[in-house]
Amino acid sequence: MFRSLSRLYRGLSRPTRRTTQLIWGSFSRSLVLSSQRRIPELSSFVARTNTCGELRSSHLGQEVTLCGWIQYRRQNIFLVLRDFHGLVQVIIPQDESAASVKKILCEAPMESVVQVSGTVISRPPGQENPKMPTGEIEIKVKTAKLLNSCKKLPFEIKDFVKKTEALRLRYRYLDLRGVQMQYNLRLRSQMVMKMREYLCNLHGFVDIETPTLFKRTPGGAKEFVIPSREPGKFYSLPQSPQQFKQLLMVGGLDRYFQVARCYRDEGSRPDRQPEFTQIDIEMSFVEQTGIQSLIEGLLQYSWPSDRDPVVVPFPSMTFAEALASYGTDKPDTRFGMKIVDISDMFRNTEVGFLQDALSKPQGTIKAICIPEGEKYLKRKDIESIRKFAADHFNQEVLPIFLKTNNNWNSPVAKFIMEEQGLGLIRLLETQEEDVVLLTAGEHKKACSLLGKLRLECADLLEARGVVLRDPALFSFLWVVDFPLFFPKEENPEELETAHHPFTAPHPSDIHHLYTEPQKVRSQHYDLVLNGSEIGGGSIRIHDAELQHYILATVLKEDVKLLSHLLQALDYGAPPHGGIAIGLDRLMCLVTGAPSIRDVIAFPKSFQGHDLMSNAPDSIPPEELKPYHIQVSWPTDSETKKSSLNHPCHPES
Ligand code: ASP
Repeated sequence: MFRSLSRLYRGLSRPTRRTTQLIWGSFSRSLVLSSQRRIPELSSFVARTNTCGELRSSHLGQEVTLCGWIQYRRQNIFLVLRDFHGLVQVIIPQDESAASVKKILCEAPMESVVQVSGTVISRPPGQENPKMPTGEIEIKVKTAKLLNSCKKLPFEIKDFVKKTEALRLRYRYLDLRGVQMQYNLRLRSQMVMKMREYLCNLHGFVDIETPTLFKRTPGGAKEFVIPSREPGKFYSLPQSPQQFKQLLMVGGLDRYFQVARCYRDEGSRPDRQPEFTQIDIEMSFVEQTGIQSLIEGLLQYSWPSDRDPVVVPFPSMTFAEALASYGTDKPDTRFGMKIVDISDMFRNTEVGFLQDALSKPQGTIKAICIPEGEKYLKRKDIESIRKFAADHFNQEVLPIFLKTNNNWNSPVAKFIMEEQGLGLIRLLETQEEDVVLLTAGEHKKACSLLGKLRLECADLLEARGVVLRDPALFSFLWVVDFPLFFPKEENPEELETAHHPFTAPHPSDIHHLYTEPQKVRSQHYDLVLNGSEIGGGSIRIHDAELQHYILATVLKEDVKLLSHLLQALDYGAPPHGGIAIGLDRLMCLVTGAPSIRDVIAFPKSFQGHDLMSNAPDSIPPEELKPYHIQVSWPTDSETKKSSLNHPCHPES
């Protein structure tokens, strides 16, 4: 089935984010995933004989019927017709006998839909267009039909025409006509098809749909609630099919997968929106390495063939190492600038705030080196870095300029330079013109700050022309050995799960569970691609007693909400584990799109609205009655506050 799709994209080649001008059919590489192809029937069952994008010199002399949108018209002689497959030039007949055809083709507004029939002829010598896949031929039209006229558009259907995201979302059906959106959605469809093929046909997985009307799950993300007709009773939309997929393992399904829609009431960000899609997987009798190999194979198999091939196995890093070297659990490993602990070098320092930091139990001094920072960073960049550190982390950052000793307004830095400069050069392997950013404080806080600054500085350097992250590089990484629990931010005495409450403890740490649960590592693994978390999963607890202990005693959750799952574990649940890959994020990275909204056909805005249909919408009070709920209308000041909370959403 997949193979038959591959030719669909022959004329529609790969636009990239950094492409300055996207024009239909102007790219030579085709969107294909497989080397073994069967030619798909692109014109079966419909009112055309061919697609606009497929015609070549090999079609010369053929009588064809095409349907498409009018993209350009020149001097009432040429018309360029577009369909999903590409562009083709049509010659508008000029002779008297074809006056009615000429009238249709010359009077139809741009983006009207027409059907034309005629002969494929070669373009006169010298008039071929090598940038157009159909550039050797044109259509000599005999008949034409206006299928539907187009009113004045809110924006031109050309990717290079700038438009706000709000406008794009409001007229999404028009936005979808653009090259980039067509490419993104078609590539997504192809990759999903390959994933299905790999999972079902090569590895015996079963594609099973699980309910979207479910009940509240303890812990985790905020869920959307759906009123029911029973007073005071609500469904919840699942944040993921987690419980169902585990129950399928108890049910003996053995290998499950689903292209699953998940819902989290958390608002949108560039890499997040309220409803999103996961490739959701669960297997019985599996260990962590089994899931990892499965996913490596899945990505390798479904990867577009015009990208550098996926190299497996993916490297792996512990959570502790990721935090210490990159300040995050999702390191972008495409470039260096790693965090280095330089505490030992400063044990005898006389600089007050460094001394202070080191005298505290968890105190450390850390640094990152910005290559050629002296050349590329401006004074105002350093100032804003220091302000960011002070405002968001309550931390000081010292910039140290190794070459020129040009430590703007920082006598402290100069002092450090004299005392410890050589040590810094050695530990951070600095070169001339590099800048070192140094901070002091508790390990996690200092690392998190430098992790953020590392990315910030990488953006700054790249904005000034340094190539740090190769756009063609896909850097996968497993992050493993997470703690099972994190202290809650609002109350560090209490614990919450790092992944979800069904994750099994690491076998070598289980002895800590009953005495020092915060020390227990888990069998949770995340998959990171170019600094984005694109997947996560775990080996699950299949022992009802252990699951009960973690829910009730460690997490202090209401176990009644999960009694069905606890009961199921007691009826011979097999050991099992799984993972979910965030399809939207994955596609966003594969296509180089700036936001996941660019790989979703009908996404929500930052405020979770569908700007096209205006959902969510109000409903008349009488329709609310069966649900036994009433609206409590917000006061004016509440309304104002909520719009201030979203200052940069695309509606504004
Ligand atoms: N259900 C998990 C999630 O959505 C993934 C997993 O553990 O399989 O993150």
